Amino acid sequence: MGEPGSSPVPTYGWDEIRKHCLPTDKWLVIERRVYDISRWADGHPGGSRLISHHAGEDATEQLIKDFRALRRAAKDMKLFEADPKFFSLVVGHILLMEGLAWLVVYFLGTGWVPTILAAVVLAISQAQSWCLQHDLGHVSVFKKSRWNYVAQQFVMGQLKGFSAHWWNFRHFQHHAKPNVFHKDPDVTVAPVFLLGESSVEYGKKKRRYLPYNHQHQYFFLIGPPLLTLVNFEVENLAYMLVCMKWADLVWAISFYIRFFSFYAPFYGIPGTLLLFASVRVLESHWFVWVTQMNHIPKDIGSEKHRDWVSAQLEATCNVEQSLFNDWFSGHLNFQIEHHLFPTMPRHNYHKVAPLVKSLCAKHGLSYEVKPFLKALVDIVRSLKKSGDAWLEAYLHQ
Ligand SMILES: [Zn+2]
Repeated sequence: MGEPGSSPVPTYGWDEIRKHCLPTDKWLVIERRVYDISRWADGHPGGSRLISHHAGEDATEQLIKDFRALRRAAKDMKLFEADPKFFSLVVGHILLMEGLAWLVVYFLGTGWVPTILAAVVLAISQAQSWCLQHDLGHVSVFKKSRWNYVAQQFVMGQLKGFSAHWWNFRHFQHHAKPNVFHKDPDVTVAPVFLLGESSVEYGKKKRRYLPYNHQHQYFFLIGPPLLTLVNFEVENLAYMLVCMKWADLVWAISFYIRFFSFYAPFYGIPGTLLLFASVRVLESHWFVWVTQMNHIPKDIGSEKHRDWVSAQLEATCNVEQSLFNDWFSGHLNFQIEHHLFPTMPRHNYHKVAPLVKSLCAKHGLSYEVKPFLKALVDIVRSLKKSGDAWLEAYLHQ
């Protein structure tokens, strides 16, 4: 009913649909499509009884109602209020790493060991700064929204050398339509990599710009090492110049002035450039693995016009909670909660998580949580799967 291929597609009124609410004859409406779930209901993850409660009504509407109630509950629990202590700690952590890296070079010299140590410490600072500027883009840490933006500009510009505007421009599109081609910039990566539905499409059209069946291997060469060093540097500069974000540009320049005045006295200009590139490459590995582990292995494709909650859940999974995982990923391991409530400060995700889990259980939606290492391996697996699907379509369709 209403499925592709069954032409002409019949249409039903609510009077007709409501009649189908019997144990042996159940219809369900999701997003204006009518489904006959009479037999399928027995295998429903929430149990046939649960899904049957929605027979003859619009389950999407019920889901949205329940989600709104959950949002209100979270608001009553004050889960949308930022804790200034938490964010001060993050700032302190970043500044400590910046200072520590400089002290390592100052006291231990410019040999290989202290230089590698300094680069790692600086990369930790960069990773934590990514998380902090991400927070400031979403969350009202300061009461006045203007201050949030200035703080984000400072973190993104002075501490990282990038543009806050550029980040928000990309990132809010990602949040609106995660894993949707041409709407989410994070998955619009063809023709370098093929993800989800694009692999079969490219195969059928006999497109072969790269050996996509090896993309899970060349990913290691051009994905994690080069993303922030090459793509982001070029994109940021182009964005600031084309969109005339001069304040962002001044902040970004201030990062380079500081970095070179810190390290050029020890390494000279070429050596400092090398140190800078090493930090970017290390930071880039962190960025790619941590930001992609929650999305790449999920459904990626064209627009499905799903409701907000289902669309976010289809495109997102979590990584197990632990002190290390929370710190390392900047709480992005709670990606489901982050996507459902982007304006919630991350120190509260673990409090709302049980409520989100029960909402998913009630509506038979998948709430996927995996161990950290499995999440990383799954990135490579899904690249291989898409590459294989491309080859199969390329050779045989
Ligand atoms: Zn976000």
